[in-house]
Amino acid sequence: MRPESLFPLFAPISALKGVGPKIAPLVERAGGPVVRDLAFLAPSGLIERRHASVAQSADGAIVILDLMIDQHVPPVRRGQPWRIRAHDETGFIFINWFKGFGPHLERMHPPGARRIVSGKVERFGVEAQIAHPDHMVAPDRAADIGEREAVYPSVVGLAPRTLRKLVLEALERAPDLTEWQDGAWRARQAWPGWREALGALHDPRSEQDLSPDAPPRRRLAFDELLAHHLAMARRKASRRAEAARATPISQASQALTAALPFTLTGAQNRALSDIRADLQSGERMSRLVQGDVGSGKTVVAMLAMADIAEAGRQSALMAPTEILARQHFESLAQPLEKAGIICVLLTGRDKGVARREKLQLIAQGRAGVVVGTHALFQEDVIFDDLSLAVIDEQHRFGVAERRRLMNKGQAVHLMALSATPIPRTLELTLFGDLDVSRIDEKPPGRKPIATTATPLSRLDDVIAHLSKATSRGAQAFWICPLVSESELLDVQAAEARAAVLQARLSAPVGLVHGQMPPQQKDQVMAAFAAGEVSVLVATTVVEVGVNVPNATIMVIEHAERFGLAQLHQLRGRVGRGQGRSACLLLYAPPLSRQAKARLEILRETEDGFEIAERDLLLRGGGDLLGVKQSGLPAYRFADPVAQADLVQAACDDARLILARDPALSSPRGQALRVLTELFDWKADDAFAEGS
Ligand code: ADP
Ligand code: MG
Repeated sequence: MRPESLFPLFAPISALKGVGPKIAPLVERAGGPVVRDLAFLAPSGLIERRHASVAQSADGAIVILDLMIDQHVPPVRRGQPWRIRAHDETGFIFINWFKGFGPHLERMHPPGARRIVSGKVERFGVEAQIAHPDHMVAPDRAADIGEREAVYPSVVGLAPRTLRKLVLEALERAPDLTEWQDGAWRARQAWPGWREALGALHDPRSEQDLSPDAPPRRRLAFDELLAHHLAMARRKASRRAEAARATPISQASQALTAALPFTLTGAQNRALSDIRADLQSGERMSRLVQGDVGSGKTVVAMLAMADIAEAGRQSALMAPTEILARQHFESLAQPLEKAGIICVLLTGRDKGVARREKLQLIAQGRAGVVVGTHALFQEDVIFDDLSLAVIDEQHRFGVAERRRLMNKGQAVHLMALSATPIPRTLELTLFGDLDVSRIDEKPPGRKPIATTATPLSRLDDVIAHLSKATSRGAQAFWICPLVSESELLDVQAAEARAAVLQARLSAPVGLVHGQMPPQQKDQVMAAFAAGEVSVLVATTVVEVGVNVPNATIMVIEHAERFGLAQLHQLRGRVGRGQGRSACLLLYAPPLSRQAKARLEILRETEDGFEIAERDLLLRGGGDLLGVKQSGLPAYRFADPVAQADLVQAACDDARLILARDPALSSPRGQALRVLTELFDWKADDAFAEGS
């Protein structure tokens, strides 16, 4: 429930003076639908105005002039401005208005009047002009013109002055609120109070005040982070509070481990003990297992599923595509069945009697492990006792989809698998409501992938090499980027590339792209996996996680157009078998400095976590596009990269607060409730809540 003290901030923007139906949509685009959104709109820049004379005013300068009005010059033709000629003792200047209002202007600023005018000067030869001045007032109101003024991100059609006025009005409505930060911590940081910080946000005195290091900005950022981390921590706590039956380590999983043709890596063992601690705790697990492609997440999942099965309950492993589900099933079914656990594959392909039989195995609880695609959460799939959901490539499922699967059992444990390494610094921000295990170690014996960058001008040589390799039985991926606005053109480019390759190679070439029907795509992929296709040409995404051990060559065309994370993912398709693998990054010169650095990093390391960290460093806090796409929250103040120290502090603080005062009922707890309402972090739970 929203406390009354926040009502003024959550009033609609139409409550502000001058926001009628016409400009309301523009104001909403600038800030948001409520007054708070304007009060929270952080300035993007600073205007500094200098008092000057006409003669001193250089082209582009933002000045304050003291002028006498001479004359109004109405437009002669359409499209010409209404011009006001004015002067000071050093020269003449024109003040121009393109939007009519001439007679009104003439009444407001009659010839002979003295006006203080501020705006940006433009010079065309000897003539100086100011178009649409920010201010034009009588001398007694000169004090209205600030010498320094915050500038807000502009919105087409909304005058900056109007926006600024509304922001300041919104700020005025912001009440003073009871301090929610710990007093000692605040004192140590030398932070202003919340209301004071908000005021300072809108009154920058220097460029420094705009930086994320400025104390008022850090204070507001910390407020925002604390609100978010409190919300995540509470969600996590409520999930944990749901009792789940404790699951001991099983005989089956011990037998399975013993029968593996390899020993688990240290990182796999660590992830497994994390998971087992969760399963034994009697609380519900919500764990994300992060690890590069090929780091061996599946076997970890298998052992956890075996524990669940031996306890008489069921697990579901959901993969985003048919082919991935099939691959999982093929690697899991045999070992599991040897250990006495029945494993069932359920996909959209299953129809009729076969499907009914599988559904029965699942409903009767005889299937201990069910592997499948989206087919798993369809309504007629009923589990006898679903206890663990393993979601492979978790980001490829929507919240609702994950939830539908989790709702098929009581207090279902969640184990999400991700092959997208997230830099440590962002882990808390993206997955603060989950426990995270990292598999940051590759199984031994993997051969490094020889990675080289080659200009596109050497395409002929590359194809000649490829021809030799494929005639010796090698298989290759050839990735074409999405470049143009039209996907159709990109598909045509890929088709053309496939045709060129087919003409030059004696081996069969296949093509997959996003516009193909899924069935057909699966068919080509399956043919490639079976070795019937030698070169697979694909637009951007080769189905993540697909395992084709015989594929040893990865060619990425226009590698400079891909992000680092994406290049790393693509390269991970090879290097999975016995043979030596190569990754060829074809680029179109000249490379930008960033693109060059990206290719360099790829050549230096294969460690996804390291690549993710270096990627972040390379892009800095300013451009987090790639990360944003992976679900970075839309913070108003906080920058989780530039303010990484605050992220950690907010996370720690949130945990401490909830440990001491889980119901937030102490005086500080009450103030913190106001804080979470202020930022309005609703339970947009990315992970299923169960029923
Ligand atoms: P991920 O799902 O993390 O991409 P997988 O689970 O598919 O990786 O494992 C990739 C391959 O590595 C599989 O063939 C698997 O059998 C093998 N593997 C897993 N763990 C080990 C290990 N500790 N030692 C050797 N090979 C392993
Ligand atoms: Mg996998």
